[in-house]
Amino acid sequence: MTVADEVVTLDREGEIAIVTLDNPPVNATSAALRAGLVSAIERACADAAVRAIVLICAGRTFVAGADVSELGKPRAEPDLRAVLEAIESAPKPVVAAVHGTALGGGLELAMACHHRIATPSAAFGLPEVSLGLIPGAGGTQRLPRLAGVATALSLIVEGKRLVGEAARAAGVVDARASGEESLRADAIAFARDLLARGLPPERLLRRVRDETGRLAPDPAAFDAARAHAAKRLRGQVAPECAIACVAAALDRPFAEGLALERATFQELEAGPQSKALRHAFLAEREAAKIPGIGRETPTRTVERVGIVGAGTMGTGIAMAFLDAGFPVTIVEAKEEALARGRNTIETTYAGSAAKGRIGQGEADARLGRLATSLAYEDLAQADLVIEAAFETMEVKRAVFAALDRVAKPGALLATNTSYLDVDAIAAATSRPQDLLGLHFFSPANIMKLLEVVRAQRTAPDAIATAMALAKRLRKVAVCVGVAHGFVGNRMLARRQAEATHLVLEGAMPWDVDRVLVAFGLPMGPFQMSDLAGLDLGWSRETSKGETLKERLCERDRRGQKTRAGFYDYDDARRGTPSPVTEEIVHAMSAEKGIARRAISDDEILERCLYPMVAEGARILEEGKAIRGSDIDVVWINGYGFPAWRGGPMFWADETGLPTIVAALDRYAATHGDAYAVPDLLRRLAEEGGRLSER
Ligand code: NAD
Repeated sequence: MTVADEVVTLDREGEIAIVTLDNPPVNATSAALRAGLVSAIERACADAAVRAIVLICAGRTFVAGADVSELGKPRAEPDLRAVLEAIESAPKPVVAAVHGTALGGGLELAMACHHRIATPSAAFGLPEVSLGLIPGAGGTQRLPRLAGVATALSLIVEGKRLVGEAARAAGVVDARASGEESLRADAIAFARDLLARGLPPERLLRRVRDETGRLAPDPAAFDAARAHAAKRLRGQVAPECAIACVAAALDRPFAEGLALERATFQELEAGPQSKALRHAFLAEREAAKIPGIGRETPTRTVERVGIVGAGTMGTGIAMAFLDAGFPVTIVEAKEEALARGRNTIETTYAGSAAKGRIGQGEADARLGRLATSLAYEDLAQADLVIEAAFETMEVKRAVFAALDRVAKPGALLATNTSYLDVDAIAAATSRPQDLLGLHFFSPANIMKLLEVVRAQRTAPDAIATAMALAKRLRKVAVCVGVAHGFVGNRMLARRQAEATHLVLEGAMPWDVDRVLVAFGLPMGPFQMSDLAGLDLGWSRETSKGETLKERLCERDRRGQKTRAGFYDYDDARRGTPSPVTEEIVHAMSAEKGIARRAISDDEILERCLYPMVAEGARILEEGKAIRGSDIDVVWINGYGFPAWRGGPMFWADETGLPTIVAALDRYAATHGDAYAVPDLLRRLAEEGGRLSER
């Protein structure tokens, strides 16, 4: 017997029916899959020769979730809950055979089966909260019943995954397949064994919905979940909703818990946060696509990496590559700097090993891949060289002239410059087609964003190679054009400038920071300045005392490192508002003849964010970003813009472009050109268009 429809196949081996789902790439629970699955289960149940059913997936994984692009839209019948209800109520035992990752609806499906067998490497998770949702097909009710409240909360709220043996220990999996390749045979044998054991009906048809044995109160687990949500998911509504649903599993009957979960899911799906998080998710995928560069574009081989400069960025970038398995050679101009850089890397790995984040063997292996040198000739074998030397055009051009002499033909040459003109840097070499910007963010071994800067003459295969390389580094790459500060820092500069104006007009730095932190950013502009250091590019000899930063530096308030900047800091680096800063601010306002006034939180927010939105529109107008959603990806991954607001372009669209244009026009009347509205923004506001969809 073989009956096949588009995505679901039904076979039989003796008394065992095998339902195979085949919906590449990840067997998402599409309408066709749901319908096919119900019908296959019904047919197997109706077949008198069948006594048990194995549910297995083709391809690289068990069902790994829903199709994100289907969310937020009406879904065709049957919905997943009805499918799971049919499976759980089936009169014949259904065994889920899991490989790869059973995520979201995949784990929910496995839990609605009566038994679960998995490969040794199979992973289980319920990542819906990362999309502003909760599990919507019984996950919040069945997982506490199957594995207890603590495990359920750690998967649902914290996004943890259970892998291999941990899944069995937690009770999610009943049996392990003997290997990665033998799942189908092992699952059939498992089903036959079930039938042979003469189990009582409630064990043969183990229905998780009817179980209460593991439903014990666990206040500590709820506390831990709330603490995680407060720290890591600040501002988001889904985590608390998920917690409420798991709590309902403890004190309400299954059907009621399920109804609460359903209502909550629908509310979240229709709400603004999930919409924004889904946008952020899809935007990240979209960012990988570059017009004119496709699968057919060749990529260059990158195995050996060279880095110039062993400062903050050079060492961070080196670790990003060492972590990903690349051999790295760092070349420095100065012996002490080289020793310091090597020391930073050694200390970081020793720290990671001591904290148990990586094994000692892994730490040793990473360090073993590192070579350091004072000679550019040692970069001759590198397939890619990244320059992270001082931020001046003379230094950059000298470095690239030297690289031009030693690098092998076809090697990629990249600059990590923050602001400088990459075309001018490329002109210092005889091979501008091989040159591009790779703008990492500090700390480069941690921050996920990578701006891939495409200069005028950068070859398409160089860009394709950089985008592919970013994946190997587990970074999120966004391709941008040459502009002062590229996309991220260019918009940031606008915000920093407006924040300073607000302070001179009447706000205090801590007012501005408070408003932006409440908005959802990890820190405000002045906290950020203190962290970075106020003396970047400052020296006592050349200081003109014209800016707040210069005046603070002159008083030796150079940021967190001197325990004083805009804020005063204690030894734990906790900042408090500083009377000295207040005095400096007041003096400067007076000198500039500004009559200080009370400034509302709304004004602070508008004046910090709307000019950034305008700058984003200008970047799009100039073609320096490929699409508006790329700007969102930059800001979410590089600057901590809350993903649940979708990024600055999406947030602007949701706020209403006409509202933003009207406010900018109002501010322009009193504050001038800094608030000028770019044509694109005005036109989109008039036409009802959206920045994030450009
Ligand atoms: P840094 O001062 O910490 O390090 C620069 C290092 O380069 C120094 O150790 C110096 O000795 C070395 N160097 C200078 N000239 C050299 C040469 N000709 N050959 C070899 N080595 C040389 O600076 P950083 O913060 O690491 O910044 C490096 C680059 O990265 C700059 O272009 C900067 O704008 C950019 N960047 C910095 C950050 C950041 O947050 N610090 C972020 C992104 C990009």
